[in-house]
Amino acid sequence: MPSIDAHAKTSIERTGKEYKEIHEWIDKDEAKKVERHDITKMPQHIKEIELKWGEEGVREYVQHIHDDVKKRIADTLAYFGIK
Ligand SMILES: [Zn+2]
Repeated sequence: MPSIDAHAKTSIERTGKEYKEIHEWIDKDEAKKVERHDITKMPQHIKEIELKWGEEGVREYVQHIHDDVKKRIADTLAYFGIK
């Protein structure tokens, strides 16, 4: 998965802001990391994120999950020799 710094860099390129607190909220706590990436739990996470960081925070959260899925799929395909 992209590192927190890589996610922040992507956010800066897209928006001009790094949204590091949001990327850290998603990735940093090892005990909660899997749950915070669980797409079936996105509706409940979105409520919490919207309270903390507003609508732009929700957008960055969705983008973070998108970028992780994209990277994971690319890594999996590469593992099987599919380009
Ligand atoms: Zn992540």
